[in-house]
Amino acid sequence: MSEKKEKSQASELKEKLAAKKPSGKLTLDKEDLSKADKFCEGYKQFMKTSKVEREAVRTTEKIAKENGFVEYEQGKKYNAGDKIYVINRGKNIGLAVIGKNGTKNGVRLVIAHIDSPRLDLKPNPLYETNDLALLKTHYYGGIKKYQWTTIPLALHGRVVRIDGECVDVCIGEDENDPCFVVSDLLPHLDKEQATKPMAKAIEGENLNVLIGSRPFNQDEESEQVKLNILNILFEKYGIIESDFLSAELDLVPAFPPRDVGLDRSLIGAYGHDDKVCAYPGIMAAVEAETPQNTIITFLCDKEEIGSEGNTGMQSSFLNSFIEDLAEADGEKFRHVMAKSTCLSADVNAAYDPTYASAFESNNASYLNGGVIITKYTGAGGKYDTSDASAEYMGFIRRMLENKKILWQTGELGKVDGGGGGTIAKYVANHNVDVVDLGVPVLSMHAPYEIVSKVDVYMAYLAFKAFFEEMATAIPPALDGGLRLPKA
Ligand code: MN
Ligand code: MN
Repeated sequence: MSEKKEKSQASELKEKLAAKKPSGKLTLDKEDLSKADKFCEGYKQFMKTSKVEREAVRTTEKIAKENGFVEYEQGKKYNAGDKIYVINRGKNIGLAVIGKNGTKNGVRLVIAHIDSPRLDLKPNPLYETNDLALLKTHYYGGIKKYQWTTIPLALHGRVVRIDGECVDVCIGEDENDPCFVVSDLLPHLDKEQATKPMAKAIEGENLNVLIGSRPFNQDEESEQVKLNILNILFEKYGIIESDFLSAELDLVPAFPPRDVGLDRSLIGAYGHDDKVCAYPGIMAAVEAETPQNTIITFLCDKEEIGSEGNTGMQSSFLNSFIEDLAEADGEKFRHVMAKSTCLSADVNAAYDPTYASAFESNNASYLNGGVIITKYTGAGGKYDTSDASAEYMGFIRRMLENKKILWQTGELGKVDGGGGGTIAKYVANHNVDVVDLGVPVLSMHAPYEIVSKVDVYMAYLAFKAFFEEMATAIPPALDGGLRLPKA
């Protein structure tokens, strides 16, 4: 046997046995790239009006209505092809398309979250010191505090006045609006600060937001700068200081989404986590034509602080909605859930060559590598996670391959490197097959996160495929176990 022949045998065997790494630049042609770019223009528009969850719900409702969705009415009988939406407390929205089988064979769920890390105002936020008016904040979600100083911030949210009137606030997004800022120490005087560990250099209690510096008038009255701010707020919104107590006001980065890179291949924006999965999920639902089984895209809140509360995924809201649909079909909720499947549509960390040591390169996701399937999240010994079954992974993998969707798989960084979670485990607890599938993000949780246009488009194709593919039947591999409680 010649040396040459041996080599070609090895290369043949390698071709047959070894895994091939997906590569966006090798598999996508010009047409695919231009489709991805076009899809992302819609995404950037969505991002402009969806910085906090209430706004994301309103934007989504508008898209839904424009596409023939009507608000769900409890007790009403729905037929195959009906498009409905349901809103919870202005912070969750579900888009459903009723399938030919209704809920009989379970529902197909794509669930993303629309809350992102930010600075929330404390209940008693406004104070004056040394002729400056400032706002006290309590950060929301996992942030690197130093990243939130000296950047333009916008104020978003809702105030409920004592007379019950709701006032929606959005200041800092229009380029003619003022913005707000957290100060930081100048390098000339930061000798002590610079020696502190990064997590301690900026204290949570020091994330105070500058809101004004001019006194109301020349009177002898104390705290005139604060008074001037109160007067501006009263004139503009009719709110008084005590109304802060019944408010949800968030400071978010004031930058709009923008293309990043000379080749415009990337998008920089605040809140890609997790609107970058929410938007593709919305578009996949909007375009679903009378599926076999009922499909639902659900956008939840409070993921960044543990999915708690009545608008988080631990709330019974979505389950109640599914139960209503099940009852209308004469089905039992628990049987419907047992036959349901879900994509927990959430982001994962993209490999960052500048911080390569945080990743295990064989099990990391890469920008332009397509959607990332995360079999399990959690931390230190797979704690606190739902670990998707081999069968479900097999099904999802086949679905993506069949549809020629660019995909990759990975963990969240190195073992023992840290960790994190998603909503997957809360859905899995209801006896639903679920796996995380989403978009890789660079600088996740930073005020300005980066994603690839190709990956955003692939997420949309993946959710579309999931609604179509899963519509046909329960995959045989998933149907073998004791999925239904014995009668
Ligand atoms: Mn997320
Ligand atoms: Mn997150």
